[in-house]
Amino acid sequence: MAAWLFAACWAVCCAGAAAQPQGTDLAALDARLAPIAPRVIAWRRDLHAHPELSGQELRTAALVAEHLRRLGLEVKTGVGGLGVVGLLRGGLPGSKVVALRADMDALPVTEATNLPFASQQTGRYQGVQTPVMHACGHDGHTAMLMGVAELLAGLRAQVPGTVKFIFQPAEEGLADLPSTAAESWGARAMVEEGVLEHPKVDAVFGLHLSPNLASGMLGVRGGPMLAGADSLRITVRGRGTHGGAPWAGVDPIVVAAQIVTGLQTIVSRQLNISHEPAVLSISSIHGGNRENVLPDSVEMRGTLRSFDEDMREDAKRRIVTTAESIAAASGAQASVSFGPATYAVTDNPRELLARMMPSLQRASGDKVVELPKISASEDFSEYQKQVPGLFFILGATPPGKTPQSAPPNHAPDFDFDEGAMRLGVKALATLALDYLVSP
Ligand SMILES: [Zn+2]
Ligand SMILES: [Zn+2]
Repeated sequence: MAAWLFAACWAVCCAGAAAQPQGTDLAALDARLAPIAPRVIAWRRDLHAHPELSGQELRTAALVAEHLRRLGLEVKTGVGGLGVVGLLRGGLPGSKVVALRADMDALPVTEATNLPFASQQTGRYQGVQTPVMHACGHDGHTAMLMGVAELLAGLRAQVPGTVKFIFQPAEEGLADLPSTAAESWGARAMVEEGVLEHPKVDAVFGLHLSPNLASGMLGVRGGPMLAGADSLRITVRGRGTHGGAPWAGVDPIVVAAQIVTGLQTIVSRQLNISHEPAVLSISSIHGGNRENVLPDSVEMRGTLRSFDEDMREDAKRRIVTTAESIAAASGAQASVSFGPATYAVTDNPRELLARMMPSLQRASGDKVVELPKISASEDFSEYQKQVPGLFFILGATPPGKTPQSAPPNHAPDFDFDEGAMRLGVKALATLALDYLVSP
């Protein structure tokens, strides 16, 4: 997930809403969680010290699979790449199947936390051996879901239905794209390999931790919550010549600059942002290698973020038209391509949120806040395209920081409050159990 930046004000949502017990005995859950919580922290530290890039999560997947087998779950490995799936069949009658998902991958970031378990690892990123860090908290996600599996395996006799544990690789996109023929990865690859079938999943729950939401809080939003994202690449082709005689060629540098400026008017002048917001950034621009040689071409890369499928398609059409037209006006050519990274909008079905809100409230002690829309993206949306799915944020501001001052996800000094993971385990377990007993 891309970097978080939360607004400072928080509204408590559904405060005081009826929070009837739904079958999960929270006191009993807490008692069982007490000895597991320190182990969740230990797992997190081990995973943090051994981060693996997207699509390379061999050690992590093996560790997860061994844990699930030891708990007596039915385990499948190699699902959609290195995905691991554990199946817990409850001891009580119940036909429902609920899935819980955690992502396992780390990022090509050089860690600067000074934690005693800071990463010293490297991994192959786009052909280059690169320092790797769990800078998005997926170490915490994996450790928490291992904790939920242990918690619910201990309660198996009282579980009325089936719980599927999905440990997903490559949420951040494959690290070594040029060396792989894979056309899909992460959640999409797991869905294509049937992770939501056999048995068929009725609902899926997932969370992301954030140091920019206070520890002890859960954050959620009905409808579009996280943006859809499309990466884009623009190649401007001109004709190289002497920098002192630009009229003898076609200068792609000036055309690229005009395109960057022209693209800014798509969001600011052309899209109806009173409907949903959008963001378009050109984040990389490369062309030329010395002061008096105009190059043949310029390469640009950027990202489009949107919260509405129609607006997304409209913006993509306008990007192509703008780039091609501006280039043509100067006798150059622009070609635009989208991908390989694409994420759909993470969109929480309002009826599922309404149904599960009492569970979130009970698990957190009524500390659920309604989030503003977030322009980061998540491939949890791939599960939501198939089955009702609810995604929420676990507050985890590290000690000594505030939600505003804590380094965000993807920063080299990113860290989170390990103590917050206990609520994450409890919330996921409560959602699963409550969903299984709900009508
Ligand atoms: Zn991330
Ligand atoms: Zn993430």
